[in-house]
Amino acid sequence: MNKYDVIIVGSGIGGLCCGSLLALAGKRVLICEAHSQPGGVAHSFKKKGYKFESGPSLWSGIGRWPTSNPLGQILKLLDEKVELVKYQGWHVSVPEGEFNLEVGQEPFKKRINLLRGHKSVEEWNSFLSAIKPLSQIVSEIPLLSSSPETINFLEIIKLTTKFFPNINLLPKLNRGFGDIVDEHLKDPFLRNWVDLLSFLISGMPMHDTNSAAMATLFDEWFQPESYLEYPKGGSESIVKTLVNAFKKNGGEIILSSRVETIKFSKKIASGVTLENGSEFISDFVVMNTDAWTCRKLIPREIAKKWNPKANNINKCGSFLHIHLGFDASGLQNLPIHAIHVDDWEKGITAERNIVVFSIPSVLDKSMAPKGKHVLHGYTPANEPWEIWENLKPTESTYKNLKEERCSIFLKSLRKIIPDIDNRIEIKMLGTPLTHKKFTNTYCGSYGPALSAAKGLFPGCKTPVKNLLTCGASTFPGIGIPAVSASGAYAAGNIIGNKEYKNLLKMLDL
Ligand SMILES: Cc1cc2nc3c(=O)[nH]c(=O)nc-3n(C[C@H](O)[C@H](O)[C@H](O)COP(=O)(O)OP(=O)(O)OC[C@H]3O[C@@H](n4cnc5c(N)ncnc54)[C@H](O)[C@@H]3O)c2cc1C
Repeated sequence: MNKYDVIIVGSGIGGLCCGSLLALAGKRVLICEAHSQPGGVAHSFKKKGYKFESGPSLWSGIGRWPTSNPLGQILKLLDEKVELVKYQGWHVSVPEGEFNLEVGQEPFKKRINLLRGHKSVEEWNSFLSAIKPLSQIVSEIPLLSSSPETINFLEIIKLTTKFFPNINLLPKLNRGFGDIVDEHLKDPFLRNWVDLLSFLISGMPMHDTNSAAMATLFDEWFQPESYLEYPKGGSESIVKTLVNAFKKNGGEIILSSRVETIKFSKKIASGVTLENGSEFISDFVVMNTDAWTCRKLIPREIAKKWNPKANNINKCGSFLHIHLGFDASGLQNLPIHAIHVDDWEKGITAERNIVVFSIPSVLDKSMAPKGKHVLHGYTPANEPWEIWENLKPTESTYKNLKEERCSIFLKSLRKIIPDIDNRIEIKMLGTPLTHKKFTNTYCGSYGPALSAAKGLFPGCKTPVKNLLTCGASTFPGIGIPAVSASGAYAAGNIIGNKEYKNLLKMLDL
């Protein structure tokens, strides 16, 4: 039987970060991935010369150094680089109007002035001043070295001393961001805007979104020199880079290898059994699967060790997707990203109210055949699973519902490309069932809907010895920077605090 130091279930970005750091630290690691491709929701697929993205499209803080992005820090540790294209602008379509917007402070202030007048600019300035000290604190506490499970008393004292003038602000960081918004913003557009950014980060409204995560976003997006980064070749390049780093240090990955159960010996995690019956033994198991899938992989007897509250988790909504390959001729100044909000009054979590588009071939010609563009659009975490769960993809009811609900995409896309219908060469629509099938996520969900107002996401340690978790269900939560950090925490727990801190010393955080 094959014996490893660590087996990781799932090759999402969290699992890959965990695996590559463990391999770097000399551990013998196996990653078992159910899908035929690594990357989890960040995987892509090819058709007729187009490379279609399925998940994340907004990347930042990976290419520059220093960076506060844990993924950028992990790539540095692994001595790996990804070729990136810098850009600043995205297209915004909101009830107040259509405009191109650049990241950075001044462009947004100009836009506020045009839309809402100078009083609202003043309000925004006061809001930014309130967030600035929070952003400073966050940038001074490197996420990678601050897992709530490993940070020690001495380090807390050191940090407390460092932030002495702003010490009263520390509790705010773990609260809902909406509290800070309520204190400073009255203008409905500004409040809606922050609610939208919060929702894109967490899948929840601003009152439920963690203030530390938002302070990080504001630090990155609203600096004078801010820019975004698109990985050349798409998300796949990030995934390939992590897989290469993992393999370079002796890691093994097996694809199309669904784990059926975690094995236990004397109630200690001791390996995995795959759906095809293969068994692998290990000292540790890390589950990169979501919270619900994790529970299914564990025998009931062992699952009892979890606090019943932890087994009753609310989920974020799912996604509708559109993938298009279309004729690019004559299309000038297309945005790489566009966001469309139909009606603020419906609320940020309303179904089919928000659509996000990304057209990576605008920046990277290798993503589409010559003279064509490739587009991925999705409704972010606001499609209810429940209306799809009992439908069968072969039935006409499903097909009709899919066409009807996905019509929101072309409706909003026509605002940017009026003749889009005549340009389409390939069109693929996806529902929560598609999302679930290709990402192996519970109910096609974005992840747990754990309100920041009620506490933090659970850490990477579980109640079971030698069984850990990482990914979007683990602290600090959803999103690429967060899952990268959780992967590092799980690795740190396995290699030991001292060795982990030694590893991080290379970064001089
Ligand atoms: C449409 C979309 C757009 C997004 N946009 C952004 C963005 O722009 N910026 C950003 O920062 N974040 C974005 N996110 C969020 C971010 O991509 C995710 O939070 C993150 O990639 C999740 O990583 P993870 O490590 O939790 O693993 P996941 O990606 O969930 O991967 C888990 C892996 O485990 C595998 N698995 C599951 N069960 C088993 C099993 N039994 N055996 C073996 N393998 C199994 C799955 O196949 C999968 O590969 C987006 C997400 C989506 C869906």
